[in-house]
Amino acid sequence: MTGYTLTCPVCNKEFSDSYTLTCPDGCQGLIRAKYAARQITLHDAPGVFKYMDWLPVTGVLRTRAEPVCFKSEGLARALGLSDLWIVFSGYWPEVGAFAVSGSFKEFEAFPTMQRLSERTKGIIQVSSAGNTGRAFAEVSAETCQPVIIVVPESARDRIFTTSPAHDILLITISGDYTDAINLGSRICTLPGIFPEGGAKNVARRDGMGTVMLAGTLAMGTLPDWYLQAVGSGTGGIAAYEASLRLIADGRFGTRMPRLLLFQNEPFIPMVRAWQEKRREIKDEDMPDAEQAISQVYSDVLTNRTPPYGIVGGVFDTLIATNGLMAGVSSADAQEAGKLFSSSEGIDPDPAAAVCVAGLMRAVRSGVIKPDEKILLNITGGGYARGRKDLPRFVKAPDIMVSKETPFEKISAKVQEWMRYYA
Ligand SMILES: *Cc1c(COP(=O)(O)O)cnc(C)c1O
Ligand SMILES: [Zn+2]
Repeated sequence: MTGYTLTCPVCNKEFSDSYTLTCPDGCQGLIRAKYAARQITLHDAPGVFKYMDWLPVTGVLRTRAEPVCFKSEGLARALGLSDLWIVFSGYWPEVGAFAVSGSFKEFEAFPTMQRLSERTKGIIQVSSAGNTGRAFAEVSAETCQPVIIVVPESARDRIFTTSPAHDILLITISGDYTDAINLGSRICTLPGIFPEGGAKNVARRDGMGTVMLAGTLAMGTLPDWYLQAVGSGTGGIAAYEASLRLIADGRFGTRMPRLLLFQNEPFIPMVRAWQEKRREIKDEDMPDAEQAISQVYSDVLTNRTPPYGIVGGVFDTLIATNGLMAGVSSADAQEAGKLFSSSEGIDPDPAAAVCVAGLMRAVRSGVIKPDEKILLNITGGGYARGRKDLPRFVKAPDIMVSKETPFEKISAKVQEWMRYYA
């Protein structure tokens, strides 16, 4: 059975999807998809779309990207764990991992682009200094769907694809990530341009949720623990929502997995807020933010405005899963990354290395018992391998602006580019 509606966690209203990102009544909460299929049936469909029963799409795109889960031997032995399972998102042909942009952002990007094309007529806009931007760029290159990407000038060489991309409008701004986000928001006020929506987008959350689906289907049952390094925490929310569906399915156990989420010291705003069981992140949770961000090993984990306190967000997710959060030092993450490479045979994304370091600490401190069933989300990796195997087309910027460039000048150029797709 296919089909879904959207529901609001605040007013409980149910409504149909027109690429809706928020409750039509204006409630502040993360709207959720409610799927007609109570039990999941795997479809004979490309990559992540095999989980389309629980994705907000009716059609599919061609891709080989999907999460791959296997029982760990090397890392499990090194840490003395008997039931450690790894979900690998990235590029690692030997295990069947073909997220060629290198991270689980690709599992979000494909359903998001498909949902947009099914539910509205328009072009998607993404502001990202890294993995998200590259994932959407890759989808655009593979599917010829247009996308507008805004990045800080310093990140321009991070947007590359494995086939030539003809349908990306890449805008660079001299400034930082926040300047890119602000320009992106203004561009989304132009008719026909839609924001990718971050955690508010059910396609992004349920795309990330396929990690829990792949893991549980491989293990045959829900895990005791789900571990991930977080910047926005969207992956944690997604893992929880997928677990709710798997419990309702009835075939995978009834116990909600506990979430153990990590941030990279010294930038750990959600860890600080959660330690005091506070729903609000305060300024004192991120002292000297700029300085702290410049010191982390994994900069994809440095979101200043995560969906933490919002209804259905990270705080509610941690409550519902009896979850934990912890900070991990960059030195520990680097060490853990080396251990992962040598014990499993593939290079992890720095964020995934943070997660491995967090696992090591949780085992050492006794939070996790050696025989518990652990799902370790290796959110990205295989870059070294990809550099060897895969073609690389670095996208040249189409529009380069500064913070002083008048918006009218930028919007005129954007609209000129858009005419081709109208
Ligand atoms: C984005 C990202 C994360 C953090 O994901 P969130 O769930 O959005 O916080 C972790 N690892 C990698 C490799 C990422 O690209
Ligand atoms: Zn509502």
